[in-house]
Amino acid sequence: MSTRLLLATRNAGKLAELQRLLEAAVPGVEVVGLRDVDDYPEAPETGATFAENALLKAHEAVRYTGLPAVADDSGLTVDALNGMPGVLSARWSGRHGDDDGNTALLLGQLADVPDERRGAAFVCAAAFVAADGTEHVLERHWRGTVIREKRGSNGFGYDPVFVPQGMDLTSAELVPAEKDARSHRGQAFAALVPVIASTLGSS
Ligand code: IMP
Repeated sequence: MSTRLLLATRNAGKLAELQRLLEAAVPGVEVVGLRDVDDYPEAPETGATFAENALLKAHEAVRYTGLPAVADDSGLTVDALNGMPGVLSARWSGRHGDDDGNTALLLGQLADVPDERRGAAFVCAAAFVAADGTEHVLERHWRGTVIREKRGSNGFGYDPVFVPQGMDLTSAELVPAEKDARSHRGQAFAALVPVIASTLGSS
């Protein structure tokens, strides 16, 4: 018997990443995205934390579709900016999803910050809400540094200026499978998979 699980995202890259992880680990689960279900009014991400936003999106998805749902919220927290852009990462330059504008603004803000104080982390909160409303949420971090010029063309967002700890390449220079295996999102979803498996497996 197949169970449908909704990944509450329109981001094709994220969907593919989550689909690979979940389908491999939870047999018999059909993973669908927001493009596969009827449109519903999506509330703005007003939470103060990644976890709040992820839970908000997952609960909303369950409420409108009746399907068990996974949602994530992620961003870049920069030490020299006291954790910003944080939950505002996607709209840091004022326009949602303007990756080039966001990255250019960040590099400008950090122009005078010396190399030894350019630490940062990508953070991802992943939430799973079962059809009966039971919720789970967890968070994973991927530490690294923000470099001064963009390098690489894979990934999205701040990837071209983020060099993960212990690496020389930016996360935009990693192939997708390599990034998935290390990233904040890959780690958060991998940690959520057993929770999803035990809930859906017993339903
Ligand atoms: P979300 O879609 O609300 O989770 O916002 C995520 C935003 O954080 C993106 O628009 C990017 O700016 C940034 N971000 C999150 N994860 C990544 C990543 O893996 N690489 C690069 N940027 C990321």
